[in-house]
Amino acid sequence: MTYVGRFAPSPSGPLHAGSLATALASWLDARAHDGRWLLRIEDVDTPRTVPGAAEVIMAQLHALGLAWDGEIIWQSRRGDAYQTAFDTLAARGLIYGCGCTRREIADSALRGQTMPGADGERPYPGTCRHGLPEGRQARAWRLRVPDGLEHFEDRWLGPQEQDVAQAVGDFALRRADGLWAYQLAVVVDDAAQGVTDVVRGADLLSSTARQRVLGRLLGLPPLRYMHVPLILDASSGLKLSKQNGAPPIDTGAPLTALKAAWEALGFPPFAAAGIAPFLREATARWAGRFPG
Ligand code: GLU
Repeated sequence: MTYVGRFAPSPSGPLHAGSLATALASWLDARAHDGRWLLRIEDVDTPRTVPGAAEVIMAQLHALGLAWDGEIIWQSRRGDAYQTAFDTLAARGLIYGCGCTRREIADSALRGQTMPGADGERPYPGTCRHGLPEGRQARAWRLRVPDGLEHFEDRWLGPQEQDVAQAVGDFALRRADGLWAYQLAVVVDDAAQGVTDVVRGADLLSSTARQRVLGRLLGLPPLRYMHVPLILDASSGLKLSKQNGAPPIDTGAPLTALKAAWEALGFPPFAAAGIAPFLREATARWAGRFPG
């Protein structure tokens, strides 16, 4: 099997130290496997998309020597593919319309009808699963999540499991604002791009079981996963993110940025004369650390 990996940034701002660590890990894993590394711009959530951010990310990757293969996919242009997957599931009775507002879902959580999952998220209580209440219109469209534990092996974190029905409940595939949900877009696109391996930040670990369930219902081949540690802000201890003001990568000093990302992933430093020798050596070390 030929390895196909991908980096799938949401263009809500430039790459910072945290997103660079993820990009580097997925690039190294692809190169260590003699695989392809694809770039997908996840601009499905249009209100969160910052105009020009995708182009900035591409220029940053280029300056850092993290070259991608083939055509870039833009999620904002993939509506037909998401609709087809949605229709396939709907034809099998696996989707239903939900009339609940955010407020009503939060209220049922307050009334103790649901237990918070591991990351504090409340599962959808299933209010509209057996039909919309009188006088209600569908706002969002949800997947009927099958019961059962979802198991998978994470190449960084080891064995993982989640009961999606319990922890998350029937999740939305099309949101109340009419946008396609990230969970659907990612599964459809990974399959369309022939992705075999997902390497991404540990903040997405709790989405993986959902994506596996969805992929299986769509008859898609299972993927391998690796969730790398999130880079925390040294002073606040919070995840580095655009929201909490992480500065953009300084592409004027690409080697410094790459070395920092490598060490933030937990690898010991080594000397390198430039970005090309650094990436060659890091690829060899990565292959030694993650054989197979
Ligand atoms: N677009 C997501 C993000 O930037 C990543 C999705 C993924 O790798 O599956 O957080």
